[in-house]
Amino acid sequence: MNQPLPLLIAGGGIGGLAAAYVLARDGHYVTVLEQSAAFGEIGAGIQLGPNIFRMFEYLGLTEAVNQVAFFPPGLGMNDVRTGEKVIRVPLGETALAAYGYPYGVIYRADLHQVFLDACKAMPNVNLRTASKVESFDQDAQGVRVHLAGGDVLAGSALIGADGLWSRIREAVVGDGKPRISGHIAYRAVLKRDQVPAHLWSDDVLLWGGEKTHLVHYPLRRGELFNLVAVFHSDKYDEGWNTFGDTAELNERFAQAVPQVRELLGKIETWKMWVLCDREPVKNWSDRRVTLLGDAAHPMLQYLAQGAGQAIEDAVVLGAALRSTAGDVAQALQKYQQARYLRTGRVQLTARFYGDIYHASGVQRELRNQLFQSGKESAGFAGLKWMYDGIDPANLFH
Ligand SMILES: Cc1cc2nc3c(=O)[nH]c(=O)nc-3n(C[C@H](O)[C@H](O)[C@H](O)COP(=O)(O)OP(=O)(O)OC[C@H]3O[C@@H](n4cnc5c(N)ncnc54)[C@H](O)[C@@H]3O)c2cc1C
Repeated sequence: MNQPLPLLIAGGGIGGLAAAYVLARDGHYVTVLEQSAAFGEIGAGIQLGPNIFRMFEYLGLTEAVNQVAFFPPGLGMNDVRTGEKVIRVPLGETALAAYGYPYGVIYRADLHQVFLDACKAMPNVNLRTASKVESFDQDAQGVRVHLAGGDVLAGSALIGADGLWSRIREAVVGDGKPRISGHIAYRAVLKRDQVPAHLWSDDVLLWGGEKTHLVHYPLRRGELFNLVAVFHSDKYDEGWNTFGDTAELNERFAQAVPQVRELLGKIETWKMWVLCDREPVKNWSDRRVTLLGDAAHPMLQYLAQGAGQAIEDAVVLGAALRSTAGDVAQALQKYQQARYLRTGRVQLTARFYGDIYHASGVQRELRNQLFQSGKESAGFAGLKWMYDGIDPANLFH
């Protein structure tokens, strides 16, 4: 630790809170500015690859996460029309042996709460709600953040962890609106007793079909069951929390095997997500201002890494600040340099995996043949670069 700095973070999602915790552990005085009236997350699941459990260990949060996570025994893909198995990758001991860390799934609200509790336990974290960042300005001495309502806060740096529609990004990168992928996701969470035994699966199970897929897995120690149905659509509402059209969903899955249709029939109300990403960039730091998480590198969810990459960002940002003896601008450049190729690779590979899941015709046959002919772990091996993750003990040495 060189010098404790006053740091401002716009956004109190998983990325913003992870950054606050990491930076506070290094002794910085951190203020988190969240626009909502309360800190919280929407109800849905998140998959956590071994690279993220590596971060939890480094941050001393493994036990807190393990108490609320679920550890599926496998990661499977079935063909949604025929029901045939395309691939199943064993997790558990296999993931541990391959990567040194497990593969888990967690309720978003529970992961967010882990970071919120960790921040609340730090006397040098100031958590502010109803604090919408409108704009900022900066000079050689520091940065000033202007909130809706008129408050102005000063700090040594501003970290824009304000998500997909980031205002801070608008000012720093200025690349317009996110790219609408044309894919939308419907999500729902059921209680365990709402899912009949023959429809329950402990695995993370993906049913892939032409321009559609359904993925489901248990959450919260197995007390809940998470479902996300994705399909191509030109109908969309901007945002993360509007109601989905059940009739359209059922139409998209009309050709699915009975098991899938029965499962979908258990859900009365879906919430809808418009899936967006951006082209990778490498100019997300400007002097005393930087971006983190979805604000920096929003990605499609097909590799289940967005929140994980935000947590990795936080760890690398902390190390960058430690390595530059109080030179904030240099630290933010180092952080960006260390992150942009890895996160860009996840962004681009995620698009490719979307194509694999939604394949039809020859592409589908080829996928099934390749996956079925390989060793069970083949599907995992191609993602070793991602799941091996970063080594937090060896950053900037
Ligand atoms: C369908 C789907 C499935 C996914 N599955 C996975 C998965 O399995 N694994 C995984 O790791 N990731 C997954 N993700 C990605 C993950 O959800 C995101 O990458 C992650 O939540 C990003 O966190 P964040 O903190 O960067 O942004 P956000 O969660 O968007 O948080 C941004 C915060 O900033 C606040 N804010 C916005 N503007 C302002 C402002 N002007 N002033 C103050 N506050 C502001 C917002 O209210 C919000 O609280 C999935 C995403 C989708 C859509």
